[in-house]
Amino acid sequence: MEVAPGIHRIESDLGTRLMCQFLLVGDERTVLLDTGLSVTPSAVIVPYLASMECRPDGLDVILISHADVDHCGGNKALREMAPRAVFVCHELDRRWIESNRLMLSENYSWQEKYGFGPSDEAKEWILTELGGDAPIEIGLLDGATIRLGPTWSVEVMHFPGHTLGHIGVWDPRSRTALVVDAVLERGAYDRAGELLVPPRYYDVNGYRETIKRVRDLRPDLLLTAHNPPFDAEGARGFLDRSMKFVETLDQIVVEGLSSGISGLKDMTDFADMRLGHYPEFATELAASVRAHLALHTPGQ
Ligand SMILES: [Zn+2]
Repeated sequence: MEVAPGIHRIESDLGTRLMCQFLLVGDERTVLLDTGLSVTPSAVIVPYLASMECRPDGLDVILISHADVDHCGGNKALREMAPRAVFVCHELDRRWIESNRLMLSENYSWQEKYGFGPSDEAKEWILTELGGDAPIEIGLLDGATIRLGPTWSVEVMHFPGHTLGHIGVWDPRSRTALVVDAVLERGAYDRAGELLVPPRYYDVNGYRETIKRVRDLRPDLLLTAHNPPFDAEGARGFLDRSMKFVETLDQIVVEGLSSGISGLKDMTDFADMRLGHYPEFATELAASVRAHLALHTPGQ
């Protein structure tokens, strides 16, 4: 549905959670932000476009917010349906977005060298939903603008943390921040409101800066991939809770270190237990724990 002038939020299911892609429709240009899982283009995006009397070959730019299976898994399928579209992501996430094999080993199963990681079943699901390799045309850094029409441009912003190359979009016209997964609060909830998946970030300081940067934008509308839209007040609360989580996890890691817990697996288990246990993708918490450990055990 259209949530701000020209900005459409396309919602579908990700297991028991929700997930969204976004469509920016201007007089001159149409931009899709994210492609979902492997089947999302045919099952969700194309029908949505059809409801607006648009077709995928009318897409001009396909922006990929970051390297994760539920955000770029539809790239190969959409590339075939939208041959005219230019695919764009941040340079730092490009390797993973372009290669399913690198994404699986470096983003999802790097924990294996510490003696844990996702199950074989989870890895198989990820590989299927990554949908096959597809190239990216343009790798961005920070601060690009995209002209959508004669009086409407949006800004692509670098929001690192969740991945090092996460990008979002700022629309100054409606004061909408499309942050996707760049800010994660306490994690991802299912539709019934149960906390399922931990916040994963690779860089604590980058993630903190991202939260501050979004807060400084003072958005009237904040759009994420896995939550309902937030108005100005809702956005402030969401951003504050996100920052609070970072401080809480930092304290847990410090406490773990001082009580002699060593090793990434034990520290991740300790943090998961202290945070109340995440039933899905708990291994993802290891990245955030590792990032906090790096702050307190420099040189290791
Ligand atoms: Zn996501």
